[in-house]
Amino acid sequence: MRDWLAVRRAATPDTLALLDATTDDRRTYADLDDAVEEVAGKLQALGVNAGDAVGVVMETRPAYVELLWAVQRLGATLVPFNARLTPAELIDQRTTIDPAVLVTDRDHEETAVDAGGRTPVVSVDEPTLAETRWLDATTPQTVESVGVSLSDTAAVLFTSGTTGEPTAIRVTARNVLASAVASAFRLGVVPDDRWLLCLPMYHMGGLSIPIRTMVYGTTTVLHGEFDPGPILRTLRERSITGVSLVPTMLERLLDAGPVDDSLRFALVGGGPTSAELAQRALAAGVPIHPTYGMTETASQITTATPRDVEAAPDSVGRPLVGTDLAILDGAGSRLDRGEQGEIAVSGWTVSPGPVSESSRRTDEWFRTGDVGYRDEKGRLYVTGRASELIVTGGENVVPGDVRAAILAHPAVEDAAVVGLTDAEWGERVGALVVTTEPVSKGTLRSFLEERLAGFKLPRTVAFADALPRTHSGTVDREVVRDQLREAER
Ligand code: ATP
Ligand code: MG
Repeated sequence: MRDWLAVRRAATPDTLALLDATTDDRRTYADLDDAVEEVAGKLQALGVNAGDAVGVVMETRPAYVELLWAVQRLGATLVPFNARLTPAELIDQRTTIDPAVLVTDRDHEETAVDAGGRTPVVSVDEPTLAETRWLDATTPQTVESVGVSLSDTAAVLFTSGTTGEPTAIRVTARNVLASAVASAFRLGVVPDDRWLLCLPMYHMGGLSIPIRTMVYGTTTVLHGEFDPGPILRTLRERSITGVSLVPTMLERLLDAGPVDDSLRFALVGGGPTSAELAQRALAAGVPIHPTYGMTETASQITTATPRDVEAAPDSVGRPLVGTDLAILDGAGSRLDRGEQGEIAVSGWTVSPGPVSESSRRTDEWFRTGDVGYRDEKGRLYVTGRASELIVTGGENVVPGDVRAAILAHPAVEDAAVVGLTDAEWGERVGALVVTTEPVSKGTLRSFLEERLAGFKLPRTVAFADALPRTHSGTVDREVVRDQLREAER
């Protein structure tokens, strides 16, 4: 295929491609394509060739979107690193990838240089450190676009590291294109669409936004930092029609004030949206679309519509077109509707796998590691992760069930439920609980005894001001375990 941005420019050169809501910086597809051509020429002059990896350490900004397309124009692979990593963590990931260059900006230059090793570090801003080259000072070369092959690795993205170390996942051009098309069939596309990008581009949910609006010929509006007040203003003043959020962002938006009614969809995913939050959003007029997705499937697997939410507020809806779902038991056999097991996926959005492994077979189900079930209408419910399943005295406990019971207590704000190694029972249930006012362990226990079978009751309970989280904002279950063990001493 021809370079995607070149095709887009030929079709709609004057359409707004990018609008930075904070600086009012705007680019049409013709402007973006010109900028990308220049950046591609500069990267080439720095020695980037087809097949090379280009590492990026930045938060969301227009230059990030230029890099995305410049890297594709060169037939190279974009590798967005989590911009919040420490230099030591970044060294580990850089070593896994071995990029030809590391592109950064003023805010991340120090970390990039610290972690860069022998990799040249290039900044999109004027550098402050001697080790850094300035992209702007590089004289561009003429670029001969190599075109795009659907099996090319478009990007390598790291998973969030919720269950262990983050894994580097290959995402192909076919994966992102299939995802863009399938998403449009669920959400619809109209010519004046403006999709607000307030997520990091080093996670699939963020990176997919500028890719999709380019495929559709619509506009990405950037709002780098998430601050509910300014985001509400941007939604209103920039006539935003779509937005992608994680559940805590949605909660903070609803707390901050009314959401403008120009919004056609609010995709909410990355972690569980409680039925309560989904209903609250609907009541506030927010067209919420709870979504289940992951890095390994180039984002969305299932997306619920507001009508689904009305009928089943704790569901994540049905699979997107081109994605097939199965619920499997431990032996890999398909389970029936209503039965709980591991969620498995097949389709064009499924990645060929981590960079550390050879490509997976595409005729086999990809096992997500998540546990869930489907109702008679085919809607999916995600109940937790297979690795988080607690086996206590031979009984299986889904942490999500226990968490839901704890959250039902009016004074409980949040909770994390984990398995702790136990000499007698193999594992026992532990809960770290965040409350809005003091609650005694005894009161909580009596409350839970009415709702949970005896073997599901948390044996170890501790209270905290907030749950410990990973860089990606997911609950850091290892630290939860440590805190619970600490509390027992
Ligand atoms: P790692 O794979 O490194 O442990 P991770 O799985 O958190 O980290 P991501 O790919 O960013 O990395 O997140 C995908 C996971 O997030 C899914 O596998 C699922 O566990 C969880 N998730 C996403 N959306 C939802 C949702 N709507 N409800 C429940 N869980 C969700
Ligand atoms: Mg995962």
